Amino acid sequence: MYGDPEVHPQPESYWGKVNPIGPRSCYDEGKRCAETLFFDYHQQHSLDIKVARIFNTYGPRMHPNDGRVVSNFIVQALKGEDITIYGDGQQTRSFCYVDDLIEGFVKLMNTEAGFTGPVNLGNPSEFTMLELAEMVLKLVGGKSRLSFLPLPADDPRQRQPDISLAQTKLSWAPQVPLNDGLKETVAYFRKLLGL
Ligand code: UDP
Repeated sequence: MYGDPEVHPQPESYWGKVNPIGPRSCYDEGKRCAETLFFDYHQQHSLDIKVARIFNTYGPRMHPNDGRVVSNFIVQALKGEDITIYGDGQQTRSFCYVDDLIEGFVKLMNTEAGFTGPVNLGNPSEFTMLELAEMVLKLVGGKSRLSFLPLPADDPRQRQPDISLAQTKLSWAPQVPLNDGLKETVAYFRKLLGL
C-alpha cells in the first residue's frame, strides 16, 4: 500500500506514494481502500479490527504461475529457461519467509482488543532483483541465463519495512534468512513440477 515510496524504510506512519490510475493501481489502492473500510467500521461500529501490512512473502505453496518474482525465478531456473529480469534488476524488495509471517499474524491476533495496527510484517533484509536471481541460480544450478525485459509501469524502485512497531509491540522479528527460505521453496517447486 506504500506504492513507489519516497521514505525508506517505510514506517506505518508513512502514507505512501501511489498512482491512482496506473496499470497496477487497483492492487495498491485495493489494499488502501480495504484499510479505510476496516477503520470506518472500527470507528462507526466499534468492530474489533487488526491490520497487518505484508511485505513480499514467499515460500512453499506459492503458485508456480502467479507471476511474482520468487516463483518466476525458481520455476525458470528449474526448467533451465531464461531468468526474466524486469528493468535493470537494481530495484529492491525485502522478502519474508511464510513461516515468519504466520508467526507475526498469530502474535498480532493475540494482542488486546483495542490494538488495531496497522503493523508492518516483513523481513527488513533488502535485495536487488539481480542479487535474488544470483541466489536462485546458485541454489538450483543449471544453465539459465539472465534475460532483461522492460520494467512494468509504476514498478516500485525499493521497498523495505520498518518493523520497529512489530518488534516492540509483538516481540516479533523474522528468523529465516533469504537463502534458507529459498532452499525450502526450491525443494517445494522441484517436487511440484517433478524436476
Ligand atoms: N520481477 C522481475 N522478474 C519477474 C517478476 C518480477 O524482475 O519475472 C520484478 C518486478 O518488476 C518487481 C520485483 O521483481 O520489481 C518484485 O515483483 P513482484 O511482482 O514479486 O512483487 P511486487 O512488485 O508486488 O513487490
